[in-house]
Amino acid sequence: MDWQQIFATRTTRMKASEIRELLKLLDQPDIISFAGGIPDPALFPAEAFQKALGDALTHNADAALQYSVSEGYGPLRDWIAAEMGRLDVPCTRDNILITSGSQQALDYLGKLMLSPGDTALVGWPTYLGALGAFNAYEPRYDKLDPETNRAAEDYAQAAAPGRVKFAYTSVDFANPTGRTLTGTMRERLLDLAEELDIAVIEDAAYQSLRYDGEALAPILAREIARKGDIDACRTLYCGSFSKTLAPGLRVGWVCGAQDVIQQMVLLKQAGDLHSSTLNQMAIAAVAEAQFDSHVARIRAAYRTRRDAMLAALEEHMPEGVTWTRPEGGMFIWLTLPQHMRGDELLARSLETERVAFVPGHAFFADGSGANTMRLSFSRTDADAIAQGIARLGRLISAA
Ligand code: PMP
Repeated sequence: MDWQQIFATRTTRMKASEIRELLKLLDQPDIISFAGGIPDPALFPAEAFQKALGDALTHNADAALQYSVSEGYGPLRDWIAAEMGRLDVPCTRDNILITSGSQQALDYLGKLMLSPGDTALVGWPTYLGALGAFNAYEPRYDKLDPETNRAAEDYAQAAAPGRVKFAYTSVDFANPTGRTLTGTMRERLLDLAEELDIAVIEDAAYQSLRYDGEALAPILAREIARKGDIDACRTLYCGSFSKTLAPGLRVGWVCGAQDVIQQMVLLKQAGDLHSSTLNQMAIAAVAEAQFDSHVARIRAAYRTRRDAMLAALEEHMPEGVTWTRPEGGMFIWLTLPQHMRGDELLARSLETERVAFVPGHAFFADGSGANTMRLSFSRTDADAIAQGIARLGRLISAA
């Protein structure tokens, strides 16, 4: 059967990446992997979840196992609203929608705003999963570069005959670069969004994982400072418990103007009715009991690994290779000399050095960035990091 005849046109934009195929080989035990970018399971608060899930099923099974409202579990939305308040985003539970991971929020925001041919402004590079989510809605992409002063008019003209709908940005310790938008860049992005009259999607997946430096106010906080009221704001903040508590429970949230949240509730109803009630209850209980202390613990562990990777890069990388120095998160971004290709290097690295990473070009909407690569330090201990980077340095020096 020729399924291509049956599938909708949007599927032509939805491709399995060749990298994902390659990285399936990673389970072999002798490979040192900097590819993943996922939390270290040794740091999961497993006991706290045992208790929280047990309590929910013992004392609250009727609700925990039942259908519930699409907006999300009330006490969890209240906890998140209070947490947003601590980030200078005063709001109530009516400004919060619980999603199944922040990945679902990205999908719904694409669904909400993108008609085929509309433009989404994204970083070059940007989070691969955001491109994956938006691609289904057949947008065009244009390069969002908060370091330049490209005129709003220029963006608008490039989007014609479609319209620019939003700017998507990963603000703190971005995936894949590890970079953080400065305060000035955040303000400039807001100015641009005002001029273009578009939404801002602020992806804050790594917000809590800061290892040094001063925390920066989210874009949404800055917009509230300008306008005085979250319900007048164009910024939609996407948060997640995946990097702090447990990605497997699939709990994230969107925080923004009630008008948008209410519209997204309709998408949630149509999509999956609501996120798992039991999981939301467990996340609420664990967050209430120990969010801050748990996050302090994982920050200390990841900080040591980041430092180990930076020190090893300094020691082993040849001249001509540059990299970012992230203040948090899980990633360091490497730029190789122009003539080198990340994908070729990966193939050789897996074969001879047994070290894995993600070639950078996959993170570019236009397929550029051949000479870049993403390294994650989150799942490897300091000794293996030192060894893996030494091997990579040897390979790159010989290339
Ligand atoms: N945004 C960014 C920048 C990410 O790196 C990830 C996960 N890798 C997500 C969103 C989605 O995470 P989740 O759905 O688990 O919240």
